[in-house]
Amino acid sequence: MKKETSQAAEPVAITEQVLYQSIECALLEGRLPAGTPLRERHLAESFEVTRGMVRKVLIRLGQDGKLDVQPNRGAFVPTPTPAQVVDAYQARVALECGALMELSARITPAQLQQLQEMVRHEHSAAASGQARQHSVRMAGNFHTAVVEILGSPTLLAMCRQLIARTQMYVALYEPQSASECAPQEHAQVLQALEKRDAQGAAQAMKAHLLLVQNRVLQRMQPRPCAPVADILKSIIQGH
Ligand SMILES: [Zn+2]
Repeated sequence: MKKETSQAAEPVAITEQVLYQSIECALLEGRLPAGTPLRERHLAESFEVTRGMVRKVLIRLGQDGKLDVQPNRGAFVPTPTPAQVVDAYQARVALECGALMELSARITPAQLQQLQEMVRHEHSAAASGQARQHSVRMAGNFHTAVVEILGSPTLLAMCRQLIARTQMYVALYEPQSASECAPQEHAQVLQALEKRDAQGAAQAMKAHLLLVQNRVLQRMQPRPCAPVADILKSIIQGH
C-alpha cells in the first residue's frame, strides 16, 4: 500500500489502541519474525510515550495470545515449534470438518449464498493484490463463517481462537504469500456443500487445512528483522 508523497503525512497520536493495532498489523503481515523481542523502553522512547503505556499494550497482546510475555524477560514474537503448529491444525481439522458434516444437511440457500459471496470477494482480492493483512483476515472469515452458521457459541469461540493462532503461524513463516488460503481451495469446499456432500466437504476442508499447515512447516526458518520501531512507524504513518 503506497501513499502519495505530495504532502507530508499527518502525525498520528500514539494511543494505546494505535500501538496495539500497529503491532497486531505487523504480526499479521509477517513483518516481525518469530522470537523478535519488543523492548518496552525502546518502544517508549521511539514513540515518546510512557513505559507504562507500552507495558499495558504488550501485556494485552500477551493475553490475546499474540505475543509471548515472559516475567522478567519481556515480550517476544511467539516462536511455535513444528509440533505446536501441527497440533493447532489438527484441532482445526477436527472442529471445522465436524462442523461441515453437520452443516451440509441443513445449510439454507441464503447461507450458501453468504459463503459464495465471501469466496467471490477472496478471488477479487487475490486478483487485485490487496494488502496481506486484509487477505489474511478475509480468509479467516470464510472459516469462521462456516462454523458461525452452525450456531454453537462454544464451537465458534474455540474456532476463532484456533484460527487466530494459525493466522499468526502463517504470518510468521509465510510472509511473502498473499494469504494463507488459496480461494480455489475454499471454492472446492463450497462446491461440495452446494451438493450437500458431507464427506466431500469435510475432505476438501481437511485437504485445504493440511496444505496450509504443510506450507507453514516447510518455511519454519529464522530470518532477519528490521528495527521494530521502524516497522511500526511505517504502519502508523500508512494509516
Ligand atoms: Zn482457508
